Amino acid sequence: MEGRVFVHIAAILMVLRGSLAAMAFFMPLTGLAQVDVGKPSSLRNLVPADQLEGSAAQQYGDLKRQAAAKGALAPDNHPQVRRLRDIAAKIIPFAGKWNPRAAHWRWEVNLIGSKQINAFCMPGGKIAFYTGILDTLKLTDDEVAMIMGHEIAHALREHARERIAKSELTNLGASLLGEFLGGGKYTGAFQLGGSFLSLKFSRDDESEADVVGMELAARAGFDPRAGVSLWQKMGAAGRGAPPQWLSTHPSGGNRIQEIERHLPQVMPLYQQALAKR
Ligand SMILES: [Zn+2]
Repeated sequence: MEGRVFVHIAAILMVLRGSLAAMAFFMPLTGLAQVDVGKPSSLRNLVPADQLEGSAAQQYGDLKRQAAAKGALAPDNHPQVRRLRDIAAKIIPFAGKWNPRAAHWRWEVNLIGSKQINAFCMPGGKIAFYTGILDTLKLTDDEVAMIMGHEIAHALREHARERIAKSELTNLGASLLGEFLGGGKYTGAFQLGGSFLSLKFSRDDESEADVVGMELAARAGFDPRAGVSLWQKMGAAGRGAPPQWLSTHPSGGNRIQEIERHLPQVMPLYQQALAKR
């Protein structure tokens, strides 16, 4: 009965407002909305994105060279490298809608031999996984996609840029701040002091990366429920000594509940992706 009334109202609307209005009326049923995490912080604009991505590319290059010199950079034909790149290739097409810059990023995915439970995506799309995170946690493809989505989300939402802008502001002090905001005179003064790898995200950034990452992975056809098993594994691994990854990605105690709370939003995206296969 309800359905018939709905169809009837829709038909009247079509007649009254024309076909365009009717299309808009039907939109919510077909076009699944993006998860809402609000606008990115405008503070990040104080650090030029191209400079930041340039610094990241340099650091990533250094890391690769250091790893290669120790025989710890997995070759292109390594089965785990191929697996990681396959997963990335499915997720990356959905990155652009979160950040238009991503369309021009030179994405890279590498595997580094290290016992550390760690993975990252630097600004500009430079991704690395350490063998420790794959081996210790025995990650499924869906779980790898959750971590990768999470890391890519940090890059897309420019959390590193925001962190650096905030710490630079603290360093500059209030007197320079006025001039800086006035004319952008000190733009050139921004130098990346530390390493991207030691950059610690805020809890808000973490929640945002969890949600956006789940969405990206779901659209790419990975089961977002893997977020729950992943964090259970990470929690268990952290009982001895906390994994490297957890020290730069602090979370509230309710991470798994938060992930579960967002599942109804992203499960339809996953189902839609599966139906397209
Ligand atoms: Zn994180």
